[in-house]
Amino acid sequence: MEWFTFQSSANKAPSANRELFAEQIPVQQLAEKFGTPLYVYSRQALETSYNAYYQALADRDHLICYAVKANSNLAVLNVLARLGAGFDIVSIGELERVLAAGGNPEKVVFSGVAKQRHEIRRALEVGVHCFNIESEQELERIQEEAQAMDKIARVSLRVNPDVDAQTHPYISTGLKDNKFGIDINHAPVVYARAEALSHIEVVGVDCHIGSQLTTTGPFLDALERLLLLMDQLKAQGIQLKHLDIGGGLGVQYQDEVVPSPSDYLVSVKQRLAEKGYGDLTLVVEPGRSIAAQAGIMLTRVELIKPTEQKNFAIVDGAMNDLLRPSIYSAWHTIVNTVEHSDVESLSYDVVGPVCESGDFLGKERALAIKEGDLLAIYSSGAYGFVMSSNYNTRCRAAEVMVDGSEAYVIRRRETVEEQFASESLLP
Ligand SMILES: *Cc1c(COP(=O)(O)O)cnc(C)c1O
Repeated sequence: MEWFTFQSSANKAPSANRELFAEQIPVQQLAEKFGTPLYVYSRQALETSYNAYYQALADRDHLICYAVKANSNLAVLNVLARLGAGFDIVSIGELERVLAAGGNPEKVVFSGVAKQRHEIRRALEVGVHCFNIESEQELERIQEEAQAMDKIARVSLRVNPDVDAQTHPYISTGLKDNKFGIDINHAPVVYARAEALSHIEVVGVDCHIGSQLTTTGPFLDALERLLLLMDQLKAQGIQLKHLDIGGGLGVQYQDEVVPSPSDYLVSVKQRLAEKGYGDLTLVVEPGRSIAAQAGIMLTRVELIKPTEQKNFAIVDGAMNDLLRPSIYSAWHTIVNTVEHSDVESLSYDVVGPVCESGDFLGKERALAIKEGDLLAIYSSGAYGFVMSSNYNTRCRAAEVMVDGSEAYVIRRRETVEEQFASESLLP
Protein backbone atom coordinates (compact mmCIF):
# COMPACT_ATOMS: atom_id res chain seq x y z
CA MET A 1 0.00 0.00 0.00
CA GLU A 2 2.70 2.37 -1.10
CA TRP A 3 0.38 5.28 -1.77
CA PHE A 4 -1.50 5.02 1.51
CA THR A 5 1.02 5.44 4.31
CA PHE A 6 1.17 6.48 7.93
CA GLN A 7 3.04 9.72 8.44
CA SER A 8 3.44 12.25 11.20
CA SER A 9 0.36 14.40 11.43
CA ALA A 10 0.45 17.43 9.21
CA ASN A 11 -1.15 19.90 11.56
CA LYS A 12 0.08 18.76 14.92
CA ALA A 13 3.64 18.96 16.11
CA PRO A 14 5.44 15.77 15.16
CA SER A 15 4.56 13.35 17.91
CA ALA A 16 4.26 9.66 18.47
CA ASN A 17 0.83 9.73 16.84
CA ARG A 18 0.81 9.28 13.11
CA GLU A 19 -2.10 9.30 10.71
CA LEU A 20 -2.94 7.79 7.34
CA PHE A 21 -2.21 9.77 4.20
CA ALA A 22 -3.40 9.23 0.65
CA GLU A 23 -0.38 10.37 -1.33
CA GLN A 24 0.26 13.77 0.33
CA ILE A 25 -3.14 14.33 1.94
CA PRO A 26 -4.20 13.22 5.42
CA VAL A 27 -7.30 11.12 4.86
CA GLN A 28 -8.96 12.75 7.90
CA GLN A 29 -9.14 15.94 5.86
CA LEU A 30 -10.82 14.12 3.00
CA ALA A 31 -13.40 12.56 5.32
CA GLU A 32 -14.18 15.91 6.93
CA LYS A 33 -14.55 17.62 3.60
CA PHE A 34 -16.42 14.97 1.62
CA GLY A 35 -18.12 12.86 4.30
CA THR A 36 -18.15 9.09 4.80
CA PRO A 37 -18.31 6.40 3.61
CA LEU A 38 -15.85 7.62 1.02
CA TYR A 39 -13.82 5.89 -1.66
CA VAL A 40 -10.37 7.40 -2.08
CA TYR A 41 -8.19 6.51 -5.07
CA SER A 42 -4.58 7.35 -5.77
CA ARG A 43 -3.78 8.44 -9.31
CA GLN A 44 -0.13 7.51 -8.88
CA ALA A 45 -1.07 4.04 -7.72
CA LEU A 46 -3.26 3.51 -10.79
CA GLU A 47 -0.55 4.76 -13.11
CA THR A 48 2.11 2.65 -11.43
CA SER A 49 0.12 -0.55 -11.74
CA TYR A 50 -0.72 0.16 -15.37
CA ASN A 51 2.93 0.89 -16.10
CA ALA A 52 3.97 -2.43 -14.58
CA TYR A 53 2.04 -4.10 -17.42
CA TYR A 54 3.33 -1.65 -19.99
CA GLN A 55 6.95 -2.25 -19.01
CA ALA A 56 6.50 -6.00 -19.09
CA LEU A 57 5.10 -5.82 -22.64
CA ALA A 58 6.95 -2.84 -24.17
CA ASP A 59 9.33 -5.12 -26.09
CA ARG A 60 6.60 -6.68 -28.22
CA ASP A 61 3.30 -5.91 -29.93
CA HIS A 62 0.69 -5.74 -27.20
CA LEU A 63 -2.58 -4.26 -26.10
CA ILE A 64 -3.42 -3.68 -22.44
CA CYS A 65 -7.21 -3.70 -22.13
CA TYR A 66 -8.14 -2.60 -18.62
CA ALA A 67 -11.22 -4.55 -17.47
CA VAL A 68 -13.71 -1.74 -16.97
CA LYS A 69 -15.93 -3.69 -14.61
CA ALA A 70 -13.27 -3.58 -11.86
CA ASN A 71 -13.72 0.18 -11.45
CA SER A 72 -15.61 2.07 -14.11
CA ASN A 73 -15.52 5.63 -12.79
CA LEU A 74 -14.95 7.99 -15.74
CA ALA A 75 -11.95 9.61 -14.08
CA VAL A 76 -10.31 6.21 -13.53
CA LEU A 77 -10.90 5.28 -17.18
CA ASN A 78 -9.63 8.68 -18.29
CA VAL A 79 -6.38 8.40 -16.30
CA LEU A 80 -5.75 5.04 -17.98
CA ALA A 81 -6.84 6.23 -21.44
CA ARG A 82 -4.29 9.06 -21.19
CA LEU A 83 -1.61 6.39 -20.73
CA GLY A 84 -2.78 4.70 -23.92
CA ALA A 85 -4.77 1.90 -22.33
CA GLY A 86 -7.32 -0.14 -24.21
CA PHE A 87 -10.39 -1.50 -22.44
CA ASP A 88 -12.16 -4.79 -21.91
CA ILE A 89 -15.91 -4.24 -21.71
CA VAL A 90 -18.80 -6.55 -20.88
CA SER A 91 -21.78 -4.32 -21.69
CA ILE A 92 -22.72 -1.40 -23.86
CA GLY A 93 -22.91 0.75 -20.74
CA GLU A 94 -19.22 0.13 -20.25
CA LEU A 95 -18.54 1.02 -23.88
CA GLU A 96 -20.34 4.36 -23.43
CA ARG A 97 -18.25 4.99 -20.31
CA VAL A 98 -15.04 4.32 -22.23
CA LEU A 99 -16.11 6.71 -24.98
CA ALA A 100 -17.18 9.38 -22.47
CA ALA A 101 -13.81 9.04 -20.75
CA GLY A 102 -11.89 9.60 -23.97
CA GLY A 103 -10.95 5.97 -24.58
CA ASN A 104 -10.16 4.77 -28.09
CA PRO A 105 -12.82 2.34 -29.40
CA GLU A 106 -10.22 0.71 -31.65
CA LYS A 107 -8.55 -0.56 -28.48
CA VAL A 108 -11.73 -2.04 -27.00
CA VAL A 109 -12.39 -5.76 -26.73
CA PHE A 110 -16.00 -6.71 -26.09
CA SER A 111 -16.38 -9.72 -23.76
CA GLY A 112 -19.46 -11.21 -22.13
CA VAL A 113 -21.59 -14.33 -22.54
CA ALA A 114 -24.70 -12.80 -24.10
CA LYS A 115 -24.19 -9.62 -26.09
CA GLN A 116 -27.56 -8.23 -27.11
CA ARG A 117 -28.29 -7.15 -30.67
CA HIS A 118 -28.41 -3.46 -29.82
CA GLU A 119 -25.06 -3.81 -28.06
CA ILE A 120 -23.51 -5.53 -31.07
CA ARG A 121 -24.80 -2.79 -33.37
CA ARG A 122 -23.39 0.00 -31.22
CA ALA A 123 -20.02 -1.76 -30.95
CA LEU A 124 -19.90 -2.18 -34.74
CA GLU A 125 -20.88 1.45 -35.22
CA VAL A 126 -17.98 2.76 -33.12
CA GLY A 127 -15.59 0.13 -34.47
CA VAL A 128 -14.35 -1.89 -31.50
CA HIS A 129 -11.10 -3.83 -31.88
CA CYS A 130 -12.87 -7.15 -31.58
CA PHE A 131 -15.71 -9.20 -30.12
CA ASN A 132 -14.67 -12.00 -27.80
CA ILE A 133 -17.21 -14.61 -28.84
CA GLU A 134 -18.49 -17.04 -26.24
CA SER A 135 -20.79 -19.33 -28.25
CA GLU A 136 -21.67 -20.42 -31.78
CA GLN A 137 -25.06 -18.80 -31.39
CA GLU A 138 -23.42 -15.50 -30.66
CA LEU A 139 -21.17 -15.86 -33.70
CA GLU A 140 -24.23 -16.22 -35.96
CA ARG A 141 -25.91 -13.27 -34.30
CA ILE A 142 -22.89 -11.04 -34.85
CA GLN A 143 -22.67 -12.15 -38.48
CA GLU A 144 -26.34 -11.19 -38.99
CA GLU A 145 -25.94 -7.76 -37.44
CA ALA A 146 -22.69 -7.03 -39.26
CA GLN A 147 -24.23 -8.08 -42.57
CA ALA A 148 -27.25 -5.85 -41.98
CA MET A 149 -24.93 -2.91 -41.31
CA ASP A 150 -22.54 -3.87 -44.10
CA LYS A 151 -19.62 -3.96 -41.69
CA ILE A 152 -16.97 -6.55 -40.98
CA ALA A 153 -16.93 -7.74 -37.36
CA ARG A 154 -13.50 -8.70 -36.05
CA VAL A 155 -13.79 -11.63 -33.69
CA SER A 156 -11.76 -13.72 -31.33
CA LEU A 157 -13.09 -16.92 -29.80
CA ARG A 158 -13.09 -17.07 -26.05
CA VAL A 159 -12.22 -20.66 -25.39
CA ASN A 160 -12.74 -22.52 -22.18
CA PRO A 161 -9.49 -24.42 -21.56
CA ASP A 162 -10.88 -26.42 -18.61
CA VAL A 163 -8.22 -25.42 -16.09
CA ASP A 164 -8.78 -24.87 -12.40
CA ALA A 165 -7.82 -21.32 -11.47
CA GLN A 166 -7.69 -22.38 -7.80
CA THR A 167 -9.59 -19.32 -6.70
CA HIS A 168 -13.00 -18.66 -5.13
CA PRO A 169 -15.67 -20.68 -7.04
CA TYR A 170 -17.67 -17.53 -7.82
CA ILE A 171 -14.73 -15.99 -9.67
CA SER A 172 -13.46 -19.14 -11.37
CA THR A 173 -14.41 -19.07 -15.05
CA GLY A 174 -12.21 -21.52 -16.96
CA LEU A 175 -13.70 -24.84 -15.92
CA LYS A 176 -15.84 -27.00 -18.19
CA ASP A 177 -18.91 -26.51 -16.02
CA ASN A 178 -18.68 -22.69 -16.07
CA LYS A 179 -20.98 -20.73 -18.38
CA PHE A 180 -18.05 -18.97 -20.04
CA GLY A 181 -16.39 -19.56 -23.38
CA ILE A 182 -16.41 -22.26 -26.04
CA ASP A 183 -15.09 -25.73 -25.17
CA ILE A 184 -11.52 -25.68 -26.45
CA ASN A 185 -11.97 -29.10 -28.07
CA HIS A 186 -14.87 -27.78 -30.11
CA ALA A 187 -13.15 -24.51 -31.03
CA PRO A 188 -11.60 -25.64 -34.36
CA VAL A 189 -15.08 -26.33 -35.74
CA VAL A 190 -16.31 -22.91 -34.66
CA TYR A 191 -13.23 -21.25 -36.17
CA ALA A 192 -13.91 -22.98 -39.45
CA ARG A 193 -17.48 -21.72 -39.38
CA ALA A 194 -16.32 -18.18 -38.53
CA GLU A 195 -13.87 -18.21 -41.45
CA ALA A 196 -16.71 -19.13 -43.77
CA LEU A 197 -18.97 -16.26 -42.72
CA SER A 198 -19.12 -13.25 -45.04
CA HIS A 199 -19.03 -10.44 -42.47
CA ILE A 200 -16.71 -11.97 -39.88
CA GLU A 201 -12.96 -11.57 -39.73
CA VAL A 202 -11.17 -13.95 -37.37
CA VAL A 203 -8.39 -12.07 -35.59
CA GLY A 204 -7.61 -13.89 -32.40
CA VAL A 205 -8.05 -16.37 -29.64
CA ASP A 206 -8.89 -15.53 -26.08
CA CYS A 207 -9.33 -16.99 -22.63
CA HIS A 208 -9.97 -15.69 -19.12
CA ILE A 209 -9.86 -18.40 -16.50
CA GLY A 210 -10.78 -16.52 -13.35
CA SER A 211 -9.92 -13.76 -10.97
CA GLN A 212 -7.61 -13.28 -7.97
CA LEU A 213 -5.15 -15.94 -9.15
CA THR A 214 -2.17 -16.03 -6.82
CA THR A 215 0.11 -18.35 -8.79
CA THR A 216 1.15 -18.41 -12.42
CA GLY A 217 0.61 -22.17 -12.78
CA PRO A 218 -3.01 -22.06 -13.97
CA PHE A 219 -2.22 -19.23 -16.45
CA LEU A 220 0.62 -21.27 -17.94
CA ASP A 221 -1.51 -24.42 -18.08
CA ALA A 222 -4.16 -22.49 -19.98
CA LEU A 223 -1.49 -21.06 -22.28
CA GLU A 224 -0.26 -24.56 -23.18
CA ARG A 225 -3.76 -25.56 -24.19
CA LEU A 226 -4.17 -22.42 -26.26
CA LEU A 227 -0.84 -23.11 -27.98
CA LEU A 228 -2.04 -26.57 -28.99
CA LEU A 229 -5.18 -25.02 -30.40
CA MET A 230 -3.19 -22.36 -32.25
CA ASP A 231 -0.99 -25.04 -33.84
CA GLN A 232 -4.10 -26.87 -34.94
CA LEU A 233 -5.62 -23.70 -36.39
CA LYS A 234 -2.39 -22.95 -38.24
CA ALA A 235 -2.61 -26.41 -39.80
CA GLN A 236 -6.21 -25.58 -40.75
CA GLY A 237 -4.89 -22.45 -42.51
CA ILE A 238 -6.32 -20.00 -39.98
CA GLN A 239 -3.98 -17.11 -39.30
CA LEU A 240 -4.43 -15.37 -35.94
CA LYS A 241 -3.20 -11.83 -35.25
CA HIS A 242 -3.55 -11.82 -31.52
CA LEU A 243 -3.58 -13.93 -28.42
CA ASP A 244 -5.60 -12.55 -25.52
CA ILE A 245 -4.73 -14.20 -22.21
CA GLY A 246 -7.39 -12.35 -20.21
CA GLY A 247 -7.01 -10.81 -16.78
CA GLY A 248 -7.14 -12.43 -13.39
CA LEU A 249 -3.82 -11.67 -11.71
CA GLY A 250 -4.41 -11.48 -7.97
CA VAL A 251 -3.44 -8.87 -5.41
CA GLN A 252 -2.36 -9.08 -1.79
CA TYR A 253 -5.43 -8.56 0.38
CA GLN A 254 -4.04 -10.27 3.46
CA ASP A 255 -0.90 -12.40 3.33
CA GLU A 256 -1.09 -13.80 -0.19
CA VAL A 257 2.17 -13.72 -2.10
CA VAL A 258 1.27 -12.77 -5.66
CA PRO A 259 3.33 -12.70 -8.84
CA SER A 260 3.97 -9.31 -10.44
CA PRO A 261 2.79 -8.67 -14.00
CA SER A 262 6.36 -9.04 -15.15
CA ASP A 263 6.92 -12.35 -13.28
CA TYR A 264 3.94 -13.73 -15.08
CA LEU A 265 4.41 -12.16 -18.50
CA VAL A 266 8.09 -13.10 -18.79
CA SER A 267 7.08 -16.76 -18.76
CA VAL A 268 4.26 -16.16 -21.24
CA LYS A 269 6.51 -14.28 -23.65
CA GLN A 270 9.20 -16.91 -23.41
CA ARG A 271 6.78 -19.71 -24.19
CA LEU A 272 5.34 -17.80 -27.16
CA ALA A 273 8.82 -17.19 -28.56
CA GLU A 274 9.72 -20.88 -28.20
CA LYS A 275 6.62 -21.87 -30.09
CA GLY A 276 7.21 -19.39 -32.91
CA TYR A 277 4.49 -16.96 -31.87
CA GLY A 278 6.80 -14.08 -30.94
CA ASP A 279 5.15 -11.77 -33.50
CA LEU A 280 1.61 -12.28 -32.31
CA THR A 281 0.06 -9.27 -30.55
CA LEU A 282 -0.31 -10.17 -26.89
CA VAL A 283 -3.51 -8.84 -25.33
CA VAL A 284 -4.10 -8.74 -21.57
CA GLU A 285 -7.26 -7.74 -19.69
CA PRO A 286 -6.20 -6.83 -16.14
CA GLY A 287 -8.78 -5.32 -13.82
CA ARG A 288 -8.17 -6.07 -10.16
CA SER A 289 -4.37 -5.89 -10.42
CA ILE A 290 -4.64 -2.35 -11.79
CA ALA A 291 -7.26 -0.89 -9.48
CA ALA A 292 -7.50 -2.82 -6.20
CA GLN A 293 -4.53 -1.36 -4.35
CA ALA A 294 -5.21 2.10 -5.76
CA GLY A 295 -8.24 2.58 -3.53
CA ILE A 296 -9.36 2.55 0.08
CA MET A 297 -12.77 3.04 1.59
CA LEU A 298 -13.06 5.36 4.57
CA THR A 299 -15.78 4.73 7.10
CA ARG A 300 -16.50 6.24 10.50
CA VAL A 301 -17.16 4.36 13.72
CA GLU A 302 -20.71 5.24 14.72
CA LEU A 303 -21.02 3.10 17.82
CA ILE A 304 -18.96 0.65 19.79
CA LYS A 305 -21.25 -2.12 20.99
CA PRO A 306 -19.81 -4.65 23.41
CA THR A 307 -21.93 -7.79 23.87
CA GLU A 308 -21.38 -10.89 25.93
CA GLN A 309 -20.07 -12.75 22.86
CA LYS A 310 -18.06 -10.13 21.05
CA ASN A 311 -17.40 -6.48 20.44
CA PHE A 312 -19.01 -4.82 17.49
CA ALA A 313 -17.67 -1.70 15.85
CA ILE A 314 -20.69 -0.39 13.96
CA VAL A 315 -19.50 1.84 11.14
CA ASP A 316 -21.31 4.03 8.62
CA GLY A 317 -20.13 1.94 5.65
CA ALA A 318 -21.90 -1.33 4.91
CA MET A 319 -22.32 -4.28 2.57
CA ASN A 320 -24.15 -2.05 0.11
CA ASP A 321 -20.96 0.07 -0.15
CA LEU A 322 -18.43 -2.77 -0.19
CA LEU A 323 -19.95 -6.15 -0.97
CA ARG A 324 -16.87 -8.38 -1.23
CA PRO A 325 -16.70 -9.46 2.43
CA SER A 326 -20.38 -10.48 2.34
CA ILE A 327 -20.44 -12.37 -0.95
CA TYR A 328 -16.98 -13.88 -1.15
CA SER A 329 -16.05 -13.85 2.56
CA ALA A 330 -13.23 -11.66 1.27
CA TRP A 331 -10.65 -10.27 3.64
CA HIS A 332 -9.84 -6.56 3.51
CA THR A 333 -7.28 -5.15 5.92
CA ILE A 334 -8.91 -2.60 8.23
CA VAL A 335 -6.91 0.05 10.06
CA ASN A 336 -7.67 3.00 12.26
CA THR A 337 -6.49 6.08 10.36
CA VAL A 338 -5.09 7.62 13.56
CA GLU A 339 -2.74 5.79 15.87
CA HIS A 340 -3.91 6.08 19.48
CA SER A 341 -1.47 5.48 22.27
CA ASP A 342 -4.13 5.57 25.01
CA VAL A 343 -6.76 3.16 23.66
CA GLU A 344 -6.78 -0.54 24.35
CA SER A 345 -6.63 -2.86 21.35
CA LEU A 346 -9.57 -5.29 21.33
CA SER A 347 -11.03 -7.77 18.90
CA TYR A 348 -13.94 -6.31 16.92
CA ASP A 349 -16.36 -7.39 14.26
CA VAL A 350 -16.57 -4.36 11.99
CA VAL A 351 -20.17 -4.24 10.79
CA GLY A 352 -22.47 -1.85 8.97
CA PRO A 353 -25.97 -0.63 9.77
CA VAL A 354 -27.73 -2.75 7.10
CA CYS A 355 -30.36 -5.19 8.36
CA GLU A 356 -28.53 -8.42 7.50
CA SER A 357 -26.21 -10.50 9.63
CA GLY A 358 -24.11 -10.88 6.48
CA ASP A 359 -23.44 -7.15 6.66
CA PHE A 360 -19.83 -7.07 7.82
CA LEU A 361 -16.60 -5.56 6.54
CA GLY A 362 -14.29 -7.63 8.73
CA LYS A 363 -14.53 -10.10 11.59
CA GLU A 364 -12.36 -10.49 14.67
CA ARG A 365 -10.02 -7.62 13.90
CA ALA A 366 -7.64 -6.27 16.52
CA LEU A 367 -8.29 -2.53 16.62
CA ALA A 368 -7.59 0.30 19.06
CA ILE A 369 -10.60 2.46 18.34
CA LYS A 370 -13.20 4.73 19.87
CA GLU A 371 -16.47 6.20 18.71
CA GLY A 372 -16.00 8.73 15.93
CA ASP A 373 -12.72 7.26 14.68
CA LEU A 374 -12.16 6.98 10.97
CA LEU A 375 -11.28 3.51 9.64
CA ALA A 376 -9.73 2.68 6.28
CA ILE A 377 -10.65 -0.50 4.43
CA TYR A 378 -7.67 -1.30 2.22
CA SER A 379 -7.54 -2.75 -1.29
CA SER A 380 -10.99 -1.41 -2.17
CA GLY A 381 -10.20 0.13 -5.56
CA ALA A 382 -11.44 -2.86 -7.57
CA TYR A 383 -14.90 -4.46 -7.27
CA GLY A 384 -15.67 -1.94 -4.54
CA PHE A 385 -17.80 1.02 -5.55
CA VAL A 386 -18.91 -0.72 -8.76
CA MET A 387 -20.68 -3.44 -6.77
CA SER A 388 -22.41 -0.97 -4.47
CA SER A 389 -26.18 -0.71 -4.29
CA ASN A 390 -28.96 1.26 -2.70
CA TYR A 391 -30.06 -1.55 -0.42
CA ASN A 392 -31.80 -0.13 2.67
CA THR A 393 -32.17 3.09 0.64
CA ARG A 394 -28.63 4.01 1.44
CA CYS A 395 -27.05 6.61 -0.80
CA ARG A 396 -24.05 5.44 -2.73
CA ALA A 397 -20.74 6.79 -1.45
CA ALA A 398 -18.75 9.62 -2.96
CA GLU A 399 -15.48 8.89 -4.78
CA VAL A 400 -12.39 11.08 -4.65
CA MET A 401 -9.14 10.84 -6.57
CA VAL A 402 -5.97 12.13 -4.99
CA ASP A 403 -3.13 13.36 -7.18
CA GLY A 404 -0.16 14.49 -5.09
CA SER A 405 -1.50 17.22 -2.80
CA GLU A 406 -4.75 17.70 -4.77
CA ALA A 407 -8.02 15.84 -4.26
CA TYR A 408 -10.77 15.77 -6.87
CA VAL A 409 -14.34 14.62 -6.38
CA ILE A 410 -14.90 12.16 -9.20
CA ARG A 411 -18.39 11.17 -8.08
CA ARG A 412 -20.37 13.19 -5.65
CA ARG A 413 -22.39 11.53 -2.95
CA GLU A 414 -25.84 10.45 -4.09
CA THR A 415 -28.93 12.02 -2.47
CA VAL A 416 -32.11 10.26 -1.35
CA GLU A 417 -34.10 12.33 -3.86
CA GLU A 418 -31.88 11.07 -6.67
CA GLN A 419 -32.52 7.54 -5.52
CA PHE A 420 -36.25 7.73 -6.08
CA ALA A 421 -36.35 10.33 -8.83
CA SER A 422 -37.04 7.63 -11.43
CA GLU A 423 -39.85 5.98 -9.46
CA SER A 424 -43.53 6.94 -9.69
CA LEU A 425 -46.80 6.52 -7.83
CA LEU A 426 -49.88 4.83 -9.29
CA PRO A 427 -52.46 7.25 -10.74
C1 LIG B 1 -13.52 -9.73 -15.06
C2 LIG B 1 -12.80 -9.97 -16.30
C3 LIG B 1 -11.48 -9.55 -16.45
C4 LIG B 1 -10.69 -8.90 -15.34
O1 LIG B 1 -10.41 -9.77 -14.30
P1 LIG B 1 -9.48 -9.31 -13.08
O2 LIG B 1 -9.45 -10.49 -12.20
O3 LIG B 1 -10.13 -8.14 -12.45
O4 LIG B 1 -8.14 -8.97 -13.65
C5 LIG B 1 -10.87 -9.74 -17.67
N1 LIG B 1 -11.52 -10.33 -18.70
C6 LIG B 1 -12.78 -10.76 -18.59
C7 LIG B 1 -13.44 -11.39 -19.75
C8 LIG B 1 -13.47 -10.60 -17.40
O5 LIG B 1 -14.73 -11.04 -17.29
